[in-house]
Amino acid sequence: MRKIFLSGLLFAVILGSGYFFAQNFFSPKVAEAESGLVKYNGKIQHIFVHSLIIYPEKAQSDTDNATGYRDNMITVKQFETIIQELYDNNFILINSQSLYSFNANGKIKQNTLYLPKGKRPLILSLDDLSYYPYMKNGGFANKLVLDNGIVKTEVITPEGKKTITNDGDAVPIVDEFVKEHPDFSQDGAKGIIALTGFQGILGYRTQLKNAQGDVERASVLPVVDALKKTGWIFASHSFTHNQVFLRETISTAELAKDISKWKAQVESLVGPTNIFVGPFGEVFKEGDSRRQQLIDAGFNVFYGVGLDGYFKFFSDHFVMNRIDIDGYRLTHNPKTLFRMFGISMK
Ligand SMILES: [Zn+2]
Repeated sequence: MRKIFLSGLLFAVILGSGYFFAQNFFSPKVAEAESGLVKYNGKIQHIFVHSLIIYPEKAQSDTDNATGYRDNMITVKQFETIIQELYDNNFILINSQSLYSFNANGKIKQNTLYLPKGKRPLILSLDDLSYYPYMKNGGFANKLVLDNGIVKTEVITPEGKKTITNDGDAVPIVDEFVKEHPDFSQDGAKGIIALTGFQGILGYRTQLKNAQGDVERASVLPVVDALKKTGWIFASHSFTHNQVFLRETISTAELAKDISKWKAQVESLVGPTNIFVGPFGEVFKEGDSRRQQLIDAGFNVFYGVGLDGYFKFFSDHFVMNRIDIDGYRLTHNPKTLFRMFGISMK
């Protein structure tokens, strides 16, 4: 990010232009003629999922959490069906960072999007990819691991056997799908991985202060690196995901502490990011000093939650709502999901 920005500055100076367009610094006509891409003016969709349920019967039998799993998650089977439907309906995964450019003064500008003819842009994000300890008996994967350099899922079967699979969560499923259908992704883009830090990341207990913490932190780095090389980008999902975000009562001091913990314990592993994926969809209202606090800390792209299609560029930041693809939406808004995405779940 920082590197791109710096080289962008150089280009901007050389070209004498205020903005550097990482994707489209050549003229639009050249872009269309030489690349076969066309200017896209329609709606840009953004969906997100949580970790996928591999064993639904385990999720249902985990009585403490079964309701949460039912409302907030979907199964591997459902996700595989949805991905196929999105592809069949001409969606293409795009890099969310191609939507905007920042100039040297931190002013943001919306970029023109160029897509293969007939394609509809889709941003995918994955929230809470931590494999929280409470999910241990819920029928989810255990962690993301590398298998011959490829990111896969470590899964404990109901019989207690540890296996490595390529369909235990969204990351390997999307990777595999794009491998089979390269036209489902623009330039290899996959999605945004939104991480908290209070229970570590990606199934590694990187928050631990002891020697085990050192092992976990060292072990996750190659996985992070492999994800970055395969089209995934990282975002902050707050460090704590505390209920004070949901209630919107978080104080300036608490937010400052949350930000500094995320930077110390998560940014130190995944690298800097300007993306803040609001916990519980909380991105604070326009003019709220806490949004400004996040901007001052380097987060100037905000993703909330909502069916309303909220998409707004401010002078120095950008806010977009995302649609949760989960049990709640599939049950309560099937017609909306069909109309917007062709998701029918038949
Ligand atoms: Zn979350």
